Amino acid sequence: MIMCPFWLHMNETCRGHMQFQDLKLIEPLLRAVRAEGYTEPTPIQAQAIPHVLAGKDLIGCAQTGTGKTAAFALPILQRLMGASSGRPKGTIRVLVLSPTRELAAQIGDSFTAYGRGTGLRSIVIYGGVGQQPQVDAVRRGADILVATPGRLLDLMNQGVVHLNQIEVFVLDEADRMLDMGFIHDVRRVIKALPTRRQTLLFSATMPQDIQDLADRILINPMRVEVTPQATTVDKVDQSVFFVDKQNKRALLEHLLGDKAIRRALVFTRTKHGANKLVQQLDRAHIQAEAIHGNKSQTARERALANFKSGKTRVLVATDIAARGIDVEDVTHVINYDLPNEPESYVHRIGRTARAGASGTAYSFCDAEERKYLQDIEKLIRLRVPPVAEHPYAEVYSGPAVAPSKPARSPRPANARYTPAPQANKSPRRRNRSRRPGDSSSRSQYSNQD
Ligand code: AMP
Repeated sequence: MIMCPFWLHMNETCRGHMQFQDLKLIEPLLRAVRAEGYTEPTPIQAQAIPHVLAGKDLIGCAQTGTGKTAAFALPILQRLMGASSGRPKGTIRVLVLSPTRELAAQIGDSFTAYGRGTGLRSIVIYGGVGQQPQVDAVRRGADILVATPGRLLDLMNQGVVHLNQIEVFVLDEADRMLDMGFIHDVRRVIKALPTRRQTLLFSATMPQDIQDLADRILINPMRVEVTPQATTVDKVDQSVFFVDKQNKRALLEHLLGDKAIRRALVFTRTKHGANKLVQQLDRAHIQAEAIHGNKSQTARERALANFKSGKTRVLVATDIAARGIDVEDVTHVINYDLPNEPESYVHRIGRTARAGASGTAYSFCDAEERKYLQDIEKLIRLRVPPVAEHPYAEVYSGPAVAPSKPARSPRPANARYTPAPQANKSPRRRNRSRRPGDSSSRSQYSNQD
């Protein structure tokens, strides 16, 4: 596991004061966090752990990358250690529902890592792979079950998994769960849970439908919130390339000519688009693999492993598949297609600038995507600086949509924009417009010189 960048951004009440010991965590858990190399709790951990330890229901507004897994896993492990439930060992007492297989696997790994000294067992079940090993694992018994909704319901219907002894239920990435159309599955799972239980709901965003769900399934919840958007985007060196749709591939190949792009995560809107792009890059002799929901679990794991080991330089992903991907040292995130949900932009660029490092995010924006760019700039309260000149620059004479309300850099999003002279440059170097000549050791289009 890599270190979370957000511990660097704690507010003053937390920074330098709060320690894991202050959270009254027991020694085996303190040993585990030390072994992971964590020195201080992240803000979501500092806020959530006491409530979860106290048995309260909780709404956690936080996205992946904030340390939210440990924020629920650590106190849950402690509660399981402490409570003499009278239940036979190996009874499933905790259920964590996750929208994607990758995230489920990562949560499972976290429970294993943090629970090393506790003797508690966790298992993970998800679809896309044979069910027998999972059935066998359930039969061997476990205290914690991490699952995606579809496979869980299958195994419940087959009478393999019983949820009537659940004491703690975690609904992780609730907004993504709803976006992916899992709401009915989630409701069916919740129906099978005892009404007397502790419920924790985590979501990166809190739209009304999530609030409604929370109102139905939580009792007097505590609410904790971290808003890392600003801090995340601040750490990423961002720029936008205005380009015609048909020139995006050529632009990508051109950019990938830069050896400073050692490990790039490229986002497309569709699975088909991801496959097509990989084939095209392959023809240009650029090693790339795709990861998305139509790929078998084995293919996804292989693609991820190759990317992690550096065997593949470019991983082309769709938003859903990239959820929870935790790869160290992604040097560049490239938005080949801009997302129509602005929050996805924040999630995407958060894949770089991990482990306290800074990273680079390039976004391609064609004429139809200008509205998406405007929404993104509104959310991040920052004008994404356009690259003034590049070989595929679209001739663009002004914003297609009315400029959004004040972003921190007032520069127009215009590909013909020429940077201000040195003396007038914005003190925020990240926000200035770029030209190909702005070279640096990292990348010709990066300004981290
Ligand atoms: P999560 O938001 O749970 O996906 O965590 C994101 C990353 O932060 C993971 O790689 C964790 O290992 C790491 N992490 C979690 N808690 C801490 C902490 N207190 N200090 C440093 N890194 C952490």
